Amino acid sequence: MNMNDIATNIAKIRSQIDTYASNCGRNPAHIQLLAVSKTKPAEDIRTAYAAGQTAFGENYLQEALSKIGQLQDLPLEWHFIGGIQSNKTRALAENFDWVHTLASEKHARRLNDQRPDSQPALNVCIQINVSGEASKGGIEPEEIMPLAQAITEMPNLNLRGLMAIPAPTDDIDEQHQAFARLAKMQQAMQQAGIDTDTLSMGMSDDMQAAIEQGSTMVRIGTAIFGKRSASVET
Ligand SMILES: *Cc1c(COP(=O)(O)O)cnc(C)c1O
Repeated sequence: MNMNDIATNIAKIRSQIDTYASNCGRNPAHIQLLAVSKTKPAEDIRTAYAAGQTAFGENYLQEALSKIGQLQDLPLEWHFIGGIQSNKTRALAENFDWVHTLASEKHARRLNDQRPDSQPALNVCIQINVSGEASKGGIEPEEIMPLAQAITEMPNLNLRGLMAIPAPTDDIDEQHQAFARLAKMQQAMQQAGIDTDTLSMGMSDDMQAAIEQGSTMVRIGTAIFGKRSASVET
């Protein structure tokens, strides 16, 4: 995508975050922008960095590792937001700062064991299925507490909060309901003694509802880097 377009889009998204947050009485500084760069070339990430963006989300491990390698000269923060497979946990533990899609104790243990001692604890979010059958992964709400408890005992993982990918819908009320469910689950965790600071929710098409329901990290791809070609989506 054109360099100027990426910079313009980032400025626009940042200004929307400011507006949506202020309109509902939230401090915009409490909402981080994660730029989702999956399927986009390393050059686009360089352009976004030049526009002030430092946190990037990737879904596909091999593609991500290639870009992380090409961009080692930049102080970027890498977030894994794709599905986790056991044979990929080592590369995740060694190369990422955050994993948003943790959904099993087995994967948590592997990430904890494989995180190099030289690196700070890996930031993790538990992915929750907030949309029932239409889900794109995540655990059921009743499974949160056992997994959260287990993670808090793992020294190389830092449980930051919850993440969800609700079923896409144009219905604003439905968007709100799904995000409200996630926010409520975080409050329930807090009441049970597990304090976290992150709600990873909101994408290009439902960012406003997510912010109004308490999102602290919106994951924005299309609205920054443009449409992705269908062939590389999984
Ligand atoms: C692709 C993706 C995004 C970004 O989606 P857009 O609609 O392009 O903003 C956010 N989160 C996850 C988990 C994704 O896979």
